[in-house]
Amino acid sequence: MPVEADRITGAIAAITPDIVNVRHYLHQNPELSHFEEQTSAFVAHRLADLGLDSIQTNVGGYGVVGTLRGTGTGPGQGRTIALRADMDALPIQETREVPYKSCKPGVMHACGHDGHTSTLLGTAAVLAGARDAFAGEVRFLFQPAEETVGGARRMVEEGAIEGVDAIVALHGWPGMPVGKVGVRPGPMMASSDTFDLKIIGRGAHAAQPHLGADPILAGSQLVVALQSIASREISPTDSIVVTVAQFHAGTANNIIPGSAELKGTVRCLTEAHRLEAPERLERIIGGICAAFRMEYEFKYKRGTPVTVNDVAVNALVSDVAGSVLGEENVTQLPAPSMGAEDFAMYLQKIPGAMFRLGVGDEMTPLHTPTYNFADDALPIGIEIFTRTVLKYLAE
Ligand SMILES: [Zn+2]
Ligand SMILES: [Zn+2]
Repeated sequence: MPVEADRITGAIAAITPDIVNVRHYLHQNPELSHFEEQTSAFVAHRLADLGLDSIQTNVGGYGVVGTLRGTGTGPGQGRTIALRADMDALPIQETREVPYKSCKPGVMHACGHDGHTSTLLGTAAVLAGARDAFAGEVRFLFQPAEETVGGARRMVEEGAIEGVDAIVALHGWPGMPVGKVGVRPGPMMASSDTFDLKIIGRGAHAAQPHLGADPILAGSQLVVALQSIASREISPTDSIVVTVAQFHAGTANNIIPGSAELKGTVRCLTEAHRLEAPERLERIIGGICAAFRMEYEFKYKRGTPVTVNDVAVNALVSDVAGSVLGEENVTQLPAPSMGAEDFAMYLQKIPGAMFRLGVGDEMTPLHTPTYNFADDALPIGIEIFTRTVLKYLAE
């Protein structure tokens, strides 16, 4: 293994300057979810230059799937491991001054998917140059539309993980220093569903509320009552978030409106809680609306399931990260994030794991106008991805 280790280390060092440039190019040219046409073409072009065995484009939208077959011998024969990166950007105006600042007004890589895509391109380059080091197959999944949810679902529907035995992904994590990673078996990220509610009352003069039925008063009671799901229906040691994030009603100071609209999200860490959520919400909505003489229209929309890391694949990634960075730099995350990640869609079908890659202590949070993936984290991500594949297929 030491000889192999040197070869991989050398290959990563050699391509890192190019991959940093790739990251800057992608950062400068971000594309919103479902519009990743140029990014997708760029990725497919780079993969073609590496001489992969096959490259499929337009998978589940602008998704790209590259396949690389090892020429070595070993236990990997007949096995396939997939690595996944997301490619989409967010509708945010970048405010950090960097030479490669987004050239698209109002669009930026505020979730670091430029870093994820670059890391996976770098990994493909290293593994393409080391085919003889493994048997079996590596599949590189470049996924569109993670932020709006749906990219992963469509890629799965269009066969991107057919025949895949395990899948691994990473997410750059601000607040964690470069050189550290976070791992966790079991729930890693929450599910994310959304709801839309229209409360229909009866408009009136603001000075004569008794002649109408006030949907703002009913809606206000409802926002409070919905919090009893977390505080009184779910065990205090479990977690659920019910957030009303929009409440729109009314047009003037002296008019009680006829209706109010509320929209929000529900986050859970178990599928059981997630399945029960619509009934719990509607029971409270129905009760409050009846009490306040309201009609209502309620729509509950399923989004992303809980991201549940497979114990064995997580252990594999964790071992590899420990050997690359030192055990002391592999953080066993005490709790999942209540944010969501559509990588969960793959994990519903096949075992896999997502890990957090430190991008810096001082870094501003994800989805903010000054976020920027760390270039120093690129070779670390590439090395963990590469060695995870080799350990899975070569040992
Ligand atoms: Zn994001
Ligand atoms: Zn993200």
